[in-house]
Amino acid sequence: MAIWNLGSINADMIYALPHMPQPGETLAADGLEQFLGGKGANMSVAAARAGSHVCHLGAIGPEGAWAVTRMLEYGVDTRHIARLDVPTGHAIIAVDPSGENQIILFPGANRQITEDQVGAALSSASAGDILVMQNETNMQAEAARMGRDLGLKVAYAAAPFDAEAVQAVLPYLDYLFLNEVEAEQLQQATGKTADALGVADVIVTLGSKGARHYDTKAGTMQEVAAHKVTPVDTTGAGDTFTGYVLASLDRGLPMAQALAQANRAAALMVTRKGTADVIPDLKEVQDATF
Ligand code: ATP
Repeated sequence: MAIWNLGSINADMIYALPHMPQPGETLAADGLEQFLGGKGANMSVAAARAGSHVCHLGAIGPEGAWAVTRMLEYGVDTRHIARLDVPTGHAIIAVDPSGENQIILFPGANRQITEDQVGAALSSASAGDILVMQNETNMQAEAARMGRDLGLKVAYAAAPFDAEAVQAVLPYLDYLFLNEVEAEQLQQATGKTADALGVADVIVTLGSKGARHYDTKAGTMQEVAAHKVTPVDTTGAGDTFTGYVLASLDRGLPMAQALAQANRAAALMVTRKGTADVIPDLKEVQDATF
């Protein structure tokens, strides 16, 4: 089977600054590093590294070809990534010597995806494939509806959180991924707990406490405790977790095994600095000793 990911592709540009700039101040950076990022790209790389066939549905601008090459190298099928005449999505990340950061996010091409592009890509999908989305692109509700109509399993990670955006896709979802804060925000917006949203499987990640899964049809809940590791950088842990869960489900594994695998991959991820470029592959995840 395959995973279709309607998701963002960002250039994460990390500027090392002597201090955070004040309003009106011009400040020279001591260094610049550029990485592949964006929740969408991270999730595609995670699911591909976990062994799935992942077709990424997204868009870049003229200067974003390197990001697509990088995704291809990590095993992602990039044929449905559009090349547009608008800037590639990017994050300008300023970091001071204490590690404090400020981030400017420019969605660019990520929010210029067309319904035709989504339709053309999903016309090659097969019933039973998985469609996943996050909230860094446009077209989620349209894609979710198309996915449901085509018999795909539709998954959504509600990040960055926006109550309206989640509620627009809720009726079409089979899987919903939330972190603890997003679960709380969604409860406030809807007045319903995670298990009462009408979505069959709801997965809530709990950071260093692990994750929880509600099987709302069966009315059951299972928890997985996080592995004990020394965190270095938690960026991308959630995306890695989601990508690994979906890759396991795509292989036909039961949810309990999918959660266990994802929990190992995400634990490994928090011990590494960086995002898409350091997501572990399945062998590393299986071989890890915690
Ligand atoms: P991020 O936005 O940083 O990617 P998130 O808020 O979406 O993360 P979290 O709930 O923080 O997601 O973490 C996702 C998963 O990563 C957890 O369910 C767990 O498996 C793993 N994880 C996160 N933090 C730790 C930790 N300190 N130790 C071990 N595992 C962790």
